[in-house]
Parts: sequence; structure tokens; C-alpha cells
Amino acid sequence: MNDKKLKKDDFFVKMEVAGLALTYDDVRLKSGFSEVDPGLVSIKTKFSKNITLNCPVVSAAMDTVTEEEMAIAMAKLGGLGIIHKALTPEVQASQVRRVKLHLNGLIDKPIFVNEEDSIGAIEKLRNEKNYRFHTFPVVNSDGKLAGILTRTDFLHCSDNTSLAKDVMTPIGKILTAPAGTTLEQAHKIMNDAKKGVLPLINEKNELAGVYTFADVSRLLKGTASLYNTDKDGHLRVGAAIGTGDDALVRAGLLSEAGCDVLVIDTAHGDSKNVYTTLKTIKEKYPKIDVVVGNVSEGESAKRLVDAGADGVKVGQGPGSICTTRIVAGIGCPQVTAVYNCAKALRGTGIPVCADGGITTSGDIPIALGAGADCVMLGRMLAGTEETPGEVRDTPDGRIKMYRGMGSLGAMQSSRASRERYRQGDAAIDKLVPEGVEGFVTYQGKVSDVLHKYIGGLRSGMGYVGADSVSTLQEKADFHRITHSGLRESHPHDILQ
Ligand code: IMP
Repeated sequence: MNDKKLKKDDFFVKMEVAGLALTYDDVRLKSGFSEVDPGLVSIKTKFSKNITLNCPVVSAAMDTVTEEEMAIAMAKLGGLGIIHKALTPEVQASQVRRVKLHLNGLIDKPIFVNEEDSIGAIEKLRNEKNYRFHTFPVVNSDGKLAGILTRTDFLHCSDNTSLAKDVMTPIGKILTAPAGTTLEQAHKIMNDAKKGVLPLINEKNELAGVYTFADVSRLLKGTASLYNTDKDGHLRVGAAIGTGDDALVRAGLLSEAGCDVLVIDTAHGDSKNVYTTLKTIKEKYPKIDVVVGNVSEGESAKRLVDAGADGVKVGQGPGSICTTRIVAGIGCPQVTAVYNCAKALRGTGIPVCADGGITTSGDIPIALGAGADCVMLGRMLAGTEETPGEVRDTPDGRIKMYRGMGSLGAMQSSRASRERYRQGDAAIDKLVPEGVEGFVTYQGKVSDVLHKYIGGLRSGMGYVGADSVSTLQEKADFHRITHSGLRESHPHDILQ
């Protein structure tokens, strides 16, 4: 968006003059003339300079919200998951790798084994690396493709000391195609031959990639048109890092694992150590986008972008599990924070993510209307099947745990969480929490839950007359509402 004056500017200037900073429950979007069919609006947007989203929702980097399963589900719904950092760098990177391997167009660097490897050694490797697949191309000592091992070969092999070359289907009996075979050609070749795997070989008979029928047909059938994928057809995923040496180790492992975007995830993004980490990472890994947060003032957002941030995350204290504003007395109510940060970044092309405090689907169009490009959700996704943690059956219904990364429990169990709240070296019994631990109602599949949130967003865009996220940002204008207005907004005066 450029820096021309927008409708909502007058509203926020008046509020500022009155000394008011507002949050979601304080405002509603003005409806206007509309020719827009909510079902047809475009909700494509960006999380960072180079990372697009087909749906403007990102799942929070929290240990009760986003690990690999959630990240896969979010990317399949067009959004993005940010894998939290209360994991060792190695485990976090392996989760990223698994998201990247979950779905493939062409697997251009397939995991292969050597023909002299024993079946036992290959099984051991599978377990160690946590590979979920059983199909391995087998190469000989000259690096040429010698054959292929599949799930059936493993199943029927009773002697673990047998060598791959004695168990595999050899090259003469398998289907192969030349390097450069397209997705469509691969689909036809596998379909005609009723085969599930297609290794590609170059002119020297070396392995040049692998297609699998399940992935290729999913990608071609259009069911995947919404998926948030990179240029090679792999699902996109982000990961949180902190600051200092740990962040650099993580950045190295995560970029090697194919992570699409790093998020410097701190409680105070406008801090010296964040700038130092940002600068080092941008120099060492110039190809990977770095989103930085959190901030809540326009000046801070601008400073981060001037320092090289590819996206800015806004929200200090709005989170459902957050006590920062009470403990530390800082922060700006979220709608004003989002507006001020987005206004400060107008014309830079750097997206703003509104992180925390969203409690209803209607808050999403409000966040985007205030200027955000996307939203980050914690509590609103925490009760879904795909989040880490068990569903507990209680007399009051099914629940899942949800806790702040600055809660006592989260800080006690992870140094990364302590560092988020600048207490990395604090004694365990001297921690000052800035979050709480609790439970949320179990909600079922994230796809069903997100469908409702996006339905609300689409409807809001229809009322405003905005057919895209950028039009919503431009057209949005607000009413300041009172407590009575909020009461009126919710169902009232009926027996339910
Ligand atoms: P929610 O969507 O309102 O539940 O807020 C989620 C957001 O709260 C996260 O994305 C973080 O930015 C933030 N957050 C997570 N843990 C804490 C905490 O312990 N204290 C303060 N903020 C937190």
C-alpha cells in the first residue's frame, strides 16, 4: 500500500487527540455500498516480503499450538504454521524438514540408500531420522540408480542382515523416467503403469529425483490449489528463533532443513539484541525471510524494517494467556497498535502480522481493516486436534491445555521461553511469569474451525465492499463503540 491518506486515518487521529487507544471490542467496521460476493473475495496476502499466504491466518509459535502436525494442516489450508522454539534446535529443524517432506511435486533430493546397506541398517536410519516413508531409491558404488526398495520389500524381508541389492526391485524391472519429466508427464506415466513411485535418472543413469503418485495426483487434482506451497510444491513452514548464539545455531539448522521463514520471536522486538541477531542472520542467510516481533508502536516497527526485517509482528500484551500489561504495565491496545505500525510501514511493502487478542472471527476483518496483512492466532486454534497435547475428558466436556510461553510452566521447562521474557539466566525459583496456563474447549479439526473464521472474514469483507485484503485495508473505516454497543453486538435478551 502506498502512503496516501485513508478513510480510517481521521478516525484514529480523533482517537489519538482524545487520548484513546482501542482494541477489538472498542470498534466495529463501517458497512458500505457493496457489489462484493463474500464467497468470491480474494483473501490472498503476505506474511513477509516473499512469503505469500492463500489465507491470512498464521498459527502461533507456542508449545500448545504449533508443531509439525499443525504446521502441515495450516499450510494445507493456505495459511502458515510457525513451529515454536521450546524444542532443541535439532528437533525443531527435524519438524521443519518433515513439513517440507510431507508433500512433494518433485522430490529433487530424495533420501537414498546404498546397495550394500543391510535392511536392518536402513530400518535403523528410518527410526533415527523419523522418516515416515518406506520407499528408498538404491544406488550402487558408482552413484548410479541400482533399484528401489518399497514398503512391501521391508514387510516381506525376514532377515535384517539381507542387503538392499538382494531385496530391492532392480533397475531393469522398475519404472523410470528421464530427468526433466514434468509433473503432468509423471502422472500419466505412473497412472498408465499403475505404479506409485517414479525415479528420474539423468544421462549418466544417476538418480535425479523421485515422484510419488499420491503427491502428484493430489497436486494435479486441484484439491491442493489452496495449499501454501513453495516453488517446488513443498508446503511452506516457519519457525521461531530467539536472539544470540542459540538463534544462530537454530537459523543454520532451520535454513538447512528448508524453513521458509524465520520469526525472531521475542516479547520486545525493539531491543538491541534483536537488532544484532537480525543483522547477523540477514548477512549469513540472505535468502530466507526474517519476520521480527513483537512491537506495538509505529516507531519500533519502522526501526525494525530499516534494520532489514521482512515482516513485523505486532502485539504486546493482547494475548489471551498474557499478563505482560499487568505485570510490566506496558503495551498498547491491539487495534491502535496494529494501525500505528501499519501506518508507519505504508509504502515499504513490508507486511504486518496482528498477533494476539483475537477472540472472534469478526476480529479478523477488524485487524486487517486496521492495516494488518495477516493475523496470528493462539487461543482460537489451541483446542484443535492438530495442536500438541492430549485431549482430556472432564465432566464439563473435552479440553486441551493452552499456556503462555511466559507462563511459569513454559518458562520452567524451556530456556528459549525464559529468553523470550529476558530471563534466560534467572534461577528457576526466581522467574517472573508474564503469562498463564489454562485449558480451552476441544474444537475438532482445524480445517472446520478455520472454515468458520474465514467465513466471518469473507462476510465482513462483503459488508465493507472489499474484494481483497488490500481493498479492505484501504476502504476500512471504524465506529468507536461503547459498552452498550458491545452488549448489543452479542446475542441478548433471549433465553438460550
Ligand atoms: P492469543 O491468540 O490471544 O491466544 O495470543 C497468542 C499470542 O500471545 C502469541 O502469538 C504470542 O505473541 C503471545 N504470547 C504467547 N505466550 C505469551 C505469554 O506467556 N505472555 C504474553 N504473550 C504471550
